[in-house]
Amino acid sequence: MLIVPGHALILLIGPPGSGKSTFAARHFGPTEILSSDAFRAMVADDEDDQRATPAAFDLPHRAAGHRLTRARLTVIDATNLRPADRRALLGLARAWNRPAVALIFAVPEAVAQERNRGRPERMVDAAVVARGASLARAIGDRPAPLLDEGFAAVHVLRDPVAIDRLRIARVGRATRAIRSPSRATRTAGSPARTS
Ligand code: GDP
Ligand code: MG
Repeated sequence: MLIVPGHALILLIGPPGSGKSTFAARHFGPTEILSSDAFRAMVADDEDDQRATPAAFDLPHRAAGHRLTRARLTVIDATNLRPADRRALLGLARAWNRPAVALIFAVPEAVAQERNRGRPERMVDAAVVARGASLARAIGDRPAPLLDEGFAAVHVLRDPVAIDRLRIARVGRATRAIRSPSRATRTAGSPARTS
């Protein structure tokens, strides 16, 4: 069981293919997840269009700021592997006094490579996966510097089977997630009660 504050900013940290997006979709509501791939698609109609990368980082950052103002749990689904990727997001969490939580996907490189190969439609270069896996492993082996960066909690996830079984509990300022867009639409669009 992994316990997270209900108003946290959660950064997923891991190479492509480490299972970040799958994990996020399993544990968090769609409106809680800010994904660099999704924002790249939003501006370029293509999750892989690298020219859209500046927008893919600017937009989640801005959206995270608006969400943290409201104490909404916010998950950043990007590789977040370098301190420079994390700095501005941690600054936002600090500005709004929200706890920042790091979830490090330090799965074996072979697992990330195999999963990356398994999605030919958006396969990342194997060297990028290797470099990312090595960075994630280094962070996982020595997570203390993340506390210095400003994270309130750092969780290192290594075993794919254990990751699959992991449960997440929210505590404190629990925020209720919208479970699916269809339900959100239905709620927003439901007719006024006549009783
Ligand atoms: P990300 O690049 O870190 O976001 O990784 P994804 O979550 O997109 O996962 C990469 C690929 O591995 C996808 O095709 C997933 O379906 C697959 N995958 C992710 N998690 C698991 C898992 O726990 N088990 C298995 N068998 N496949 C997984
Ligand atoms: Mg992903």
